[in-house]
Amino acid sequence: MSRLKIVDTPAGPARLKRSRRRTLAISVLPDGSLELVAPDQASLEAIVARVAKRMGWIKTQRRAFGEMNALRPALRFVNGATHRYLGRQYRLKIVKGEVKEVFLRGAYFHVVTPKTNQYEVEQALEAWYRRQSRLQFERRLASWAEWCRHRHLPKPKLRLRRMPKRWGSALQDGTICLNPELIKASSACIDYVIAHEICHLKHHHHGKAFYTELGNVCPDWASRKKRLESMDL
Ligand SMILES: [Zn+2]
Repeated sequence: MSRLKIVDTPAGPARLKRSRRRTLAISVLPDGSLELVAPDQASLEAIVARVAKRMGWIKTQRRAFGEMNALRPALRFVNGATHRYLGRQYRLKIVKGEVKEVFLRGAYFHVVTPKTNQYEVEQALEAWYRRQSRLQFERRLASWAEWCRHRHLPKPKLRLRRMPKRWGSALQDGTICLNPELIKASSACIDYVIAHEICHLKHHHHGKAFYTELGNVCPDWASRKKRLESMDL
């Protein structure tokens, strides 16, 4: 069983675990914190002395992680951060309040929440996006019902599904899976993705017949596709 404790070292506070291993293991985690796994018998002085000897290495590790972290978009759920909805950009305005609420006003995304930390704001915003994507996508799919009926295709029904590399997919039974992230794109781009998936109800491939159909229902699909791909969500 390992016991965890925080100890002071020349490299700052470190989490110390004990184990049956024979040598001390020093790790720098991606957030820059230090973790030590020491043999059961090793004295605290010996551990600290060992950390002192590895200071150069610890600094190099921290610098490398720091550079990596700087490249990552941080602080996305704080006041002033930009978020998209239907192709437009809005800035976050976070307000402390009893009742959770998210709404758009002018150029702002207002997020009212009892706790205003990044995690809570992200949760509130994600829930709002999901609700809006359901409303918007359902309404758009409904406009295809008649088109499908005329072609003896199943009535399209929506399923929201997070997909890391796809905006949508279509199942034989008429289920159109759409990525809720798509709600951040413009209406024209959303309609292109839906048109693409609806055409798959008739043509289960990306052959010539599929593209002829897509060209009929969405003549400028290629430029919409390009716009969607160039969008930075
Ligand atoms: Zn496709």
